[in-house]
Amino acid sequence: MAQQSFQTRYGSPPMSDDDAACRACCGQMRAHWDERPHARLMVVASTPVVEAFGGGVETRYLCLECGHTLMHSTGRFGQGWH
Ligand SMILES: [Zn+2]
Repeated sequence: MAQQSFQTRYGSPPMSDDDAACRACCGQMRAHWDERPHARLMVVASTPVVEAFGGGVETRYLCLECGHTLMHSTGRFGQGWH
């Protein structure tokens, strides 16, 4: 007999510690905007930025290593890795 259990799966809550970034991410944040994303970064979203905010494209990456989110912009303002 299959008994239904009411186990609620919360998964693992995302750790939002700034310290949680792995070594590769720390290096990426200091990298030149022209640098390629490190091997464990996965593109989550790519958003064009309006001209008033410098234009370019803002790409959000998720690190598969540490779960850290990194932003990369190609616009005139805030160009680089964040
Ligand atoms: Zn990382």
